[in-house]
Amino acid sequence: NSGLNIKDLTVAYKGGQLALERVNLTVPEHSIYTIIGPSGSGKSTLLRAIAGLIKDYQGEILFQGSSVHTKETLIGLVPQSYGLLPWKTVHSNIHMAMKISHPDRTQKHNQEQTIQHWLEAMGIEDLAKRYPLSLSGGQQQRVAIARAFALVPTIMLLDEPFSALDAVTRETIQRLFLENWKANPATTLFVTHDVEEAILLGEKIIVIPSDKGKSPVTIDNDHVFH
Ligand code: ADP
Ligand code: ADP
Repeated sequence: NSGLNIKDLTVAYKGGQLALERVNLTVPEHSIYTIIGPSGSGKSTLLRAIAGLIKDYQGEILFQGSSVHTKETLIGLVPQSYGLLPWKTVHSNIHMAMKISHPDRTQKHNQEQTIQHWLEAMGIEDLAKRYPLSLSGGQQQRVAIARAFALVPTIMLLDEPFSALDAVTRETIQRLFLENWKANPATTLFVTHDVEEAILLGEKIIVIPSDKGKSPVTIDNDHVFH
C-alpha cells in the first residue's frame, strides 16, 4: 500500500460532464510516471483532484494507505495555466506558497536562499520583482516550476510543465528536473502531450484512453535513464 493509490476515481463536473470514470492507478513512492492521452481524456482533472483542487469526486486518493487530503502530505503542483497570483510579484508568488506550505519554517534566510536558488536555476533571477502578467508564457511557466520545486513536496504533480519553453530551455530544465528528483525523489506524476518527453522522463508511461470507463494502460519504459 505504499505510494500514491487512485481507486475508482470518478469526477463529473457541474452540468454532468464526466471527466474521469472509475480510474485506478498506482504510483510507487519515489517514482516518476508520465501520463499521455488525448485532449479531453481527463489528465488535468486527475492532477487537480489529487492536488485537492477538486473536492467533489467519488473514489479514493490514498498516499501510504490513507487519504492524501487528510494527512500532512505536501503536494506540489505545476498547473497547466501556471496559477500565478497576478497582483503579487514573482518573488512573492513563490514566497507565499512557501509560507502556506511550511508555516512553521520561519527561518527567513533559508527561505530566501531557496527562492534565489530556484530563480537562478530557472534563469529568471532578474524577474523577481516583476508581476506575472508582464512576463511571457515561458517566463510565467518557469515561475510556476520554481514555486513547486521550492516547496520540496512529497508528491509532485506537473501538468505539461515545459509546454511554453523553447527547445533549448526545455532540455536544460528537463535535466534540472531529473537532477532535482534524484536529490529529493518526490512521488511524481508528469502530464505531457509529447511522447518523446514521456519516454525520456517516465519510469512508466500511463496512457489515458479517450473512452470514459476504459482503464488507463501502464507501459513499462526500458529506455528511462534515471
Ligand atoms: P485533458 O487534461 O486530458 O485535456 P481535462 O481534464 O482538462 O482533460 O478535461 C476532461 C473533460 O472534462 C473534458 O471533457 C473537459 O471538457 C471537461 N472539463 C474540464 N474542466 C472542466 C470544467 N471546469 N467544467 C466543466 N467541464 C470541464
Ligand atoms: P508576502 O506574503 O507578500 O511574501 P512579506 O511581508 O513576507 O509578504 O514580504 C513582502 C514583500 O517583500 C514580498 O513581495 C516579498 O516577496 C518581498 N521580500 C521579502 N523578503 C525579501 C528578500 N529577502 N528579498 C527580496 N524580496 C523580499
